[in-house]
Amino acid sequence: MSSMAPRVLILGGTSEARALAAELVTHGVPVVSSLAGRVSAPRLPEGEVRIGGFGGADGLADWLTRHGIIAVVDATHPFAQRISASAAAGTARAGVPLLRLHRPGWQESPGDRWHWVDTLDDAAAVLPRLGTRVFLTSGRQGLAAFAGLRDLWFLARCVDPPTPPLPPRLEVVLSRGPYHVEEETALLREHRIDVLVTKDSGGSMTEAKLIAARRLGLPVVVIRRPARPAVPTVTEVATAVDWTLGWVTES
Ligand code: NAP
Repeated sequence: MSSMAPRVLILGGTSEARALAAELVTHGVPVVSSLAGRVSAPRLPEGEVRIGGFGGADGLADWLTRHGIIAVVDATHPFAQRISASAAAGTARAGVPLLRLHRPGWQESPGDRWHWVDTLDDAAAVLPRLGTRVFLTSGRQGLAAFAGLRDLWFLARCVDPPTPPLPPRLEVVLSRGPYHVEEETALLREHRIDVLVTKDSGGSMTEAKLIAARRLGLPVVVIRRPARPAVPTVTEVATAVDWTLGWVTES
């Protein structure tokens, strides 16, 4: 395939997006991955990369037209609601086909003690009746929701340092996955964690904490995924590769 300017856009920031970019580069597809620019040192995908917002759906539609993009794969995180809404509206406006690469959510197993909630605020509301030493893995940007819980102690794991407002009794550990069950079990024990908070992010990279919590019999507050636009959706990188190759061949 040609080495002309990128003609397929991947909306990224996930391991699936990086896997898709790598596969398409292997197939010689001219691809550009887009990142939001939230993380100070992001893991970069193969191929061309651009960083920063587009300016909503109109900005994205304009960008797609100006760059001659023939297909878009939205492989963003299941909780990245605004960019997925922009992708649906912006591709429709520009007349460019869109595929959603969506990782499945986690499934409860026997022995799990999961408490499903809709929002971070709901998670904060249920926590005081579930435990006193909390492992927070719901991301740096959501810590403000827990800032009013003065009697609980928090261990928050984030990629970059969080900014206020923050819970007053907080220890931060900076790291990013993948994580393994033995390490996660040791972390929960070391900090005497008695409740865990997570988004239903899905995927294998950060699932070990749930297995560790099951082993230790700990309750887990799981935040449900937000609603998504109705667009053609696949769950496997290989299917997204085939879909993209179909459009590249046709163009
Ligand atoms: P969001 O709320 O959906 O997006 C907020 C704004 O950031 C969007 O309106 C868009 O700005 C810009 N943006 C988001 N993703 C972008 C991308 N891939 N390329 C270019 N611009 C992007 O997203 P978020 O929840 O803050 O997540 C930001 C990024 O981090 C996403 O790409 C996502 O895949 C990744 N991520 C998110 C989470 C999470 O829990 N939310 C976890 C892991 C990774 P404009 O409107 O100006 O275009």
